[in-house]
Amino acid sequence: MLNLFGKYLFLFILIVFLCGCNDTQKEINNIKKDTASKTITRIDSTKISRPVTIPKGVITKLPSDKKIIALTFDACETKTPVTFDEGILTYLTNEKIPFTIFVSGKLAKHNQVRLKELAGLNFVEIENHSMNHFQNMERLPDEKVKSEVLENEKLLSEITGKKTKFFRFPAGNYNQRVLDNVENLGYRVVQWRFPSGDPSKNISVKKLVTWVMYKVKPGDILIFHINGRGYRTAEGLPLIVKQLREQGYGFVKLDYYIKIN
Ligand SMILES: [Zn+2]
Repeated sequence: MLNLFGKYLFLFILIVFLCGCNDTQKEINNIKKDTASKTITRIDSTKISRPVTIPKGVITKLPSDKKIIALTFDACETKTPVTFDEGILTYLTNEKIPFTIFVSGKLAKHNQVRLKELAGLNFVEIENHSMNHFQNMERLPDEKVKSEVLENEKLLSEITGKKTKFFRFPAGNYNQRVLDNVENLGYRVVQWRFPSGDPSKNISVKKLVTWVMYKVKPGDILIFHINGRGYRTAEGLPLIVKQLREQGYGFVKLDYYIKIN
């Protein structure tokens, strides 16, 4: 009898213990859920604050005063076929630094395999730099301006599987008419606040780094060349990135901050 009572007592204690464990487990799960939902809330709230819609017109800086930088590279080709600057690409892809390449159609045609590879990296943004890289698009008639954008859009999307949404005028030349033409195609035009000077054959690594670090401000869109004409960029860029990081800067793609409607 006592033995049977003892068994029941043991079972009772076991059930109470297991329930207690269950409660403790529930509590742990709730804490986990709570923490997870707080984490999600935090991520979502930062997402809400960006990307933002900014007024029409040429964009020369990101719509933020935070210590963020968009590294942008022009991949232009006019007459002579060129390839991507692998020195720059090796550094950026090894470090997984977000960056944007404005690609012209001629270069895209000659570098399809590499372009597709780059477009497959989630920290790389491929954007539109016109089909033929006419240095003065403001001298072209409306229809030609539009075809320069749309032909390259078609080509780039065939290669990368993605639609371009930002456009950069070759040599930075434009007027209000051609700007309107490009914006009416749904694009935002992205230029820069100051040039890095990297297409100059005479620039030294020291001069390139010193100049960029002297000029740079939060939200800047830096411009370099990744078509072999950024003569000291592969050497200078790691030094620039290192110094910017030391000053607390981070790097973003354009679409991280700029919303396309
Ligand atoms: Zn260009």
